[in-house]
Amino acid sequence: MTKDLKNKGLATKAIRGGLERSQFKETSEAIFLNSGFVYDSAEEAAGRFRGENDGFIYSRYANPTTSVFEERMCLLEGAEAARATSSGMAAVNLAIMSHVKAGDHVVAPKALFGSCLYIIEQILPRFGVKVTLIDGTDIDQWQKALQQPTSAVFLETPSNPTLEIVDIAAVADLAHKVGAKVIVDNVFATTIYQKPLELGADVVIYSATKHIDGQGRCLGGIVLSDEEFIEEVVAPYHKHTGPSLSPFNAWNLLKGLETLELRVEKQTDNASRVADALAENAKVARVIYPGRDDHPQAALARQQMKRGSTLVSFEINGDQEETFAFLNRLQLIDISNNLGDSKSLITHPTTTTHSSVSEELKAELGINSNLVRLSVGLETADDLVEDLLQALEG
Ligand SMILES: *Cc1c(COP(=O)(O)O)cnc(C)c1O
Repeated sequence: MTKDLKNKGLATKAIRGGLERSQFKETSEAIFLNSGFVYDSAEEAAGRFRGENDGFIYSRYANPTTSVFEERMCLLEGAEAARATSSGMAAVNLAIMSHVKAGDHVVAPKALFGSCLYIIEQILPRFGVKVTLIDGTDIDQWQKALQQPTSAVFLETPSNPTLEIVDIAAVADLAHKVGAKVIVDNVFATTIYQKPLELGADVVIYSATKHIDGQGRCLGGIVLSDEEFIEEVVAPYHKHTGPSLSPFNAWNLLKGLETLELRVEKQTDNASRVADALAENAKVARVIYPGRDDHPQAALARQQMKRGSTLVSFEINGDQEETFAFLNRLQLIDISNNLGDSKSLITHPTTTTHSSVSEELKAELGINSNLVRLSVGLETADDLVEDLLQALEG
């Protein structure tokens, strides 16, 4: 089934990829909400464990509903294999920890999602992994950091919350020369607008909690790569440490995927509209949106992303108190740290998602006290603009 869909469009893949109907021929994917499976004989059980006959063993390893989600994501991403996880952070942890060992070297930009930075900066060194953190927008710094043998590069583009763009193809070239696997967190761009594997990356991870569910219902994540890396490196670690995705959440995520392209395109229409309206407003000091020509890396963004995606960051003309007052005046847009949702959500990164990042690093990254990050939803664009403008007016 999956093979037949390889040359189809994104939406067709997102709606039909991996579909396996049971003997009841249900239209929608079934939820196999079971932990275990039974065997017809002791011999069959023994054979299954020896890998001699196909079939499921235990839902920590694999489950029919979760497998449909993995196959559908592989098809969308152009990956050979995948393992789904209980959250996006479980996917980040799985991709990195299954691969690195004591004595290895890992390179990453400083501009990362707070918890990703915690894994790289705090956890890896505890296990004897050497870490180099750089400015991901500066190719000279990548070149310098990647002069020694390196086991992994981890990057996020656009980054959270300053929407910096990292040149995936250029970094992959440098990384491969010193033997590093390039792991890309593709949450902000989504599979609709950016294909890291086609640009030379080796591994893609998602927090499926974000656009893939996109309706605030559940957590989930996934690691996608080639067959060898997934089956030999990721799968044993996944199977034995148990960050598995719940089949119920896998089903939610399958339903999310069916409307992913529609939602992301409409949210991006809204985001462009909102970014333009904010840029014209005197109460706004700066707008950062990868889809606008005034983004510091607009050309690179255009080169590797089809569109600017659904997040807009901006600075209020004023201090933290005035920024909080603006947030508190919003009537439609919710204050929430989630993103990619059908509801527009806004957050103040320096006191929320990035509160654990040092003041020094926040200053360096431009995560200032007047910066807000807006995840643009599916509401009527006029209503979003009106809400933002009235809140800016004060
Ligand atoms: C949310 C997010 C994560 C973590 O995902 P969870 O599902 O919340 O665990 C990782 N990376 C990025 C870029 C994210 O936005």
